[in-house]
Amino acid sequence: MKAIDDELTGVRSRAALMSALQRCVMQSNEQRTPMAVLVVDVDGFAQINNVHGYQAGDEVLRHLAAQLGEVARPHDVLARIGSDRFVLLLNRILNRGHAELAIQKIFRLMDVPLQTRSVRFGVGVSVGAALCPMHATHPELVLRLAEAALSNARSVGHRHAYAPDAEVGLGISDVWDLELQLPGAIERGEMELHYQPQVCAADLSVIGAEALMRWKTPGRGYVSPAVFIPMAERTGEIRKLTSWALNTALRHAAEWAPERCLGVSVNLPGMLVTEPDLPEIVEAALRLWGTERVALTLEITEGSLMDSERAFASLARLRELGTRVSIDDFGTGYSCLAYFRDIPADELKIDQSFIKALLVDPATADITRFIVNLAQRFNLSVSAEGVEDEATLRAVQALGCQTVQGYLIGKAMPSSAFRRWLQEYRQGCAA
Ligand code: C2E
Ligand code: CA
Ligand code: CA
Repeated sequence: MKAIDDELTGVRSRAALMSALQRCVMQSNEQRTPMAVLVVDVDGFAQINNVHGYQAGDEVLRHLAAQLGEVARPHDVLARIGSDRFVLLLNRILNRGHAELAIQKIFRLMDVPLQTRSVRFGVGVSVGAALCPMHATHPELVLRLAEAALSNARSVGHRHAYAPDAEVGLGISDVWDLELQLPGAIERGEMELHYQPQVCAADLSVIGAEALMRWKTPGRGYVSPAVFIPMAERTGEIRKLTSWALNTALRHAAEWAPERCLGVSVNLPGMLVTEPDLPEIVEAALRLWGTERVALTLEITEGSLMDSERAFASLARLRELGTRVSIDDFGTGYSCLAYFRDIPADELKIDQSFIKALLVDPATADITRFIVNLAQRFNLSVSAEGVEDEATLRAVQALGCQTVQGYLIGKAMPSSAFRRWLQEYRQGCAA
């Protein structure tokens, strides 16, 4: 598939990687065969461009892609995810030793100086690695941990590093421990909902917030939702958590700004979308907390809409109840284009990986533009999440996204803090 390949190096693009990663991690979890994510980054790439010119820079990237191609086996996936950053997914490995062998082979191949038409020079690379399930069992988290491992390696002057085992990586006994604790978490008051602001892209006025779950355990402090949500899905605990989140979010949102209508978005796990009693659960929560002053949006990940006929019927029913439907992490699933015509949704929330790559990867920018245009054609509004800096904000505004969410505007915070934030933000805007 040419459109999703990286033009310069011929390896997969970031978008293609994200769907491959999701598939591979799912397979790894199901078949209980470990996999590794290696993030490979060129040392001092900016300097190579400065000293030897952009052509040499391009040559370095093509060379690295070719060497990584030597390391990849037929069922592995190789992609470029940033200007000089590559990812190699090693599927079906037996243990960490296999990842280590691959990393050492990368170093061996790259230790041979690169001979371009005019110059010969050495190209150093650094590698960060994370394994599923040893470090994490969620695609985004495995990638994030591998990237964090890469920065750790650099900060201590090593060529490569693995994600930390003790802190983030959960051993089997940790998983059991957390799974045992999870059922009583709400009753013990350990579960919290935090709220991340969502603003209008055009004038940055506040539209509402996304509710994000936090689990504060006595032993470990905050456990990431990327850890406990998949766990709750596995154990069935997710029904109770979702119902709690719906009720809590509606209750909190009604307290924020009595004088105006704000929105609150709640994440709805894919596995609940087709549950026959979902509309009743939502309806009961709406009835209990009143809907006049709070607009409820349910965020459903694109990947969970595979069984589209049943899921679409369920979403249509939810919209009849007056909730908005937003398709979360859009771009990482496997939607076909016909989907746009029929989907009972109000909004597409473009996945963070696209927004983060917007300024560095022209192909990603093209795909994002394409998604926005298509969404507009079908009257879907578009939300950009993961906006961390002004330049990215300007880019998503120029693309025509309607709403923005990200650290630039604000991180997720407890309800009371969000209420204060709202007042201060408005004063700031008025000043
Ligand atoms: P998501 O729904 O895609 O939520 C967005 C995640 O991106 C949140 O992480 C948020 O804190 C983070 N984020 C927002 N802006 C930025 C930014 O500018 N930069 C960066 N680096 N990150 C940003 P969080 O809270 O850790 O949640 C992770 C995932 O856990 C969520 O992804 C969602 O899939 C799941 N999750 C969280 N709360 C719930 C919940 O109540 N129910 C369900 N079913 N899933 C939840
Ligand atoms: Ca979400
Ligand atoms: Ca998302």
